[in-house]
Amino acid sequence: MKDYCLISTAYHGEARIYVSYSQALVEKARTTHGTWPTASAALGRFLTVSAMMGLMVKDGESITLKIEGDGPIEYMLVETNAKGEVRGDIKNPEVYLTYNSGPKAGKLAVGKAVGNGYLHVTKDLNMRHNFTSSIALETGEIGDDFTYYFTSSEQTPSAVGLGVLVNPDQSIKHAGGFIIQLLPNASEQTITQIEKVLSNIQAVTELFEQGLSVEDITDILSSGTAKKLSEHDIAYICHCSKEKFAKSLEKLDVKTLQTFIEEDHGAEVVCHFCKSKYHFDEDELKKIHTNKH
Ligand SMILES: [Zn+2]
Repeated sequence: MKDYCLISTAYHGEARIYVSYSQALVEKARTTHGTWPTASAALGRFLTVSAMMGLMVKDGESITLKIEGDGPIEYMLVETNAKGEVRGDIKNPEVYLTYNSGPKAGKLAVGKAVGNGYLHVTKDLNMRHNFTSSIALETGEIGDDFTYYFTSSEQTPSAVGLGVLVNPDQSIKHAGGFIIQLLPNASEQTITQIEKVLSNIQAVTELFEQGLSVEDITDILSSGTAKKLSEHDIAYICHCSKEKFAKSLEKLDVKTLQTFIEEDHGAEVVCHFCKSKYHFDEDELKKIHTNKH
């Protein structure tokens, strides 16, 4: 199954449903950052929900999201836009923790790997100021945290389900998720029906494992009432370039640039999001130095 997001209206226009499959996207993140299973699950869930949020903004707008916690991952950063493109960064990719006991025994301990902390969401809506809102993390399991974010910060009662299933060789077997949002006209009857569906639904990765498609999951979530609105590709893409990094180097102070030129005779810049390396030789750095004046 290819990566994409299906957006539907459901319950006679009283709810909107986003369902995504994101295996290739999360696998790309894993190979780029060298994440271990629990970090793959944490970053994968975060990228998947972010890609769906990107599809909620207009063309040319973008969202930057950051999760900071006191767990071993420390922080994750994701950027997304209206084209369904995401890219991310993770402080400590080598995290592999599982729950030892309780109902989640044996499962990847994403909440433990993230810990207590905050979710910051910054929207760049092409206005003079960006808008940032922050919430304390509920559980660090990502899905719960976004459920709380949408309800408290965006005043849109929502439920978010996210999942990443890792193969024994640590590659990504399945990844995906959903967001179901109640619209202001939602009736008590619809709310009750959605609560019933959510309390019975299995984890998204289990549904994909059973061979269900994005359409099948939309059907379950909507109790068969879904009407397709649109379908979008989602992907892990970084648009960095040497020209863009040259612009960032121009912003450095003169002293730092001089050190690169006189002592290092060059500079190598590594993109945090895709790990591409860009080399600037002495002459190129001198040109950047001149451009500053
Ligand atoms: Zn890059």
